[in-house]
Amino acid sequence: MESIGEMLKKAMADSLKDQERPAGAESAQELADRAIKDPDVQKFLKEHASELSKQAVQDSMTNICEFYLQKTSPVKAIADYQAELFMNGPLIGVRYLPTAAKRQRDEERAAESRIELIDMPKKLRRITLTDLDKGDPGRNAALLAVGKFLDEYEKHHTAKGLYLTGDFGVGKTYIMAGLANRVAKNGGKVIFLHLPTFISGLSSHFSDNSLQKEIQRVASCDVLILDDIGAETLSQWSRDDVLGVILQSRMDNDLATCFTSNMEMDDLEDHFASTKNAVDPVKAARLMQRVRYLAKEIIVTGRNRRLN
Ligand code: ADP
Ligand code: MG
Repeated sequence: MESIGEMLKKAMADSLKDQERPAGAESAQELADRAIKDPDVQKFLKEHASELSKQAVQDSMTNICEFYLQKTSPVKAIADYQAELFMNGPLIGVRYLPTAAKRQRDEERAAESRIELIDMPKKLRRITLTDLDKGDPGRNAALLAVGKFLDEYEKHHTAKGLYLTGDFGVGKTYIMAGLANRVAKNGGKVIFLHLPTFISGLSSHFSDNSLQKEIQRVASCDVLILDDIGAETLSQWSRDDVLGVILQSRMDNDLATCFTSNMEMDDLEDHFASTKNAVDPVKAARLMQRVRYLAKEIIVTGRNRRLN
């Protein structure tokens, strides 16, 4: 910002030279008189009265005028930045700070960059918990649980996850999007992943090396949400060496993990047991133990909102 400030100062000093002033334009002295009377300038001078001599104010006049012109001009020298006076040693300086609107936009952008959607619709980025209507009793338990999760997460940087189960279209994914966006807003890194698409794309998308990295990345984010678990087609490999590894790692490292599913937990165990070419209840039970350890089951009911 320094160089822009310097540039402005030069431009201002030039414009203040009386001899270059077009006929009828205000003199430097008139501008200075107006600037010094500005309420923000007055406030600054009062706040710093003990540090400022008369001479120092005189010597700072170019900066005071710059501040005043920037404040009152409808065209800002630098979009999204506003001028501010500050004590620069014994003199008064002018600097440019981002406006509140810009700061908010930057924060929103930063939060967005902390959520990674993998095979999920982009519109989920815009869902906030306050947008979710609270009137549907079938969703109250889930919304309450989300509130508890967030409280605990904020205190301990981890929390027992949620497993939202219920029919297609009741709003499970939307509720999780609200949770994800809140965590990201508060600084957490979230991966929100559509499990069936992720699993079916595994072999085609990755070389061995990049797959291990991808599994590592998914396994280590602050909050992981696996959407639609139970709808994926598993092989022994994807169950044990991908899903199993991810869940084990999240358990070992106490990382918050949430799920949505059309299946209740008991049915999910049967789903895990039968892979493409084997039935393996022991491995299914082991995987299910991890899911139960990581998340609390909550049933979501209500109308199918996709049929509005
Ligand atoms: P599920 O994951 O349970 O199948 P979704 O979360 O995908 O259901 O919700 C289904 C559709 O219903 C969404 O695409 C959205 O259009 C709508 N929907 C869900 N929850 C809400 C809500 N709280 N407010 C408005 N629309 C909603
Ligand atoms: Mg869903």
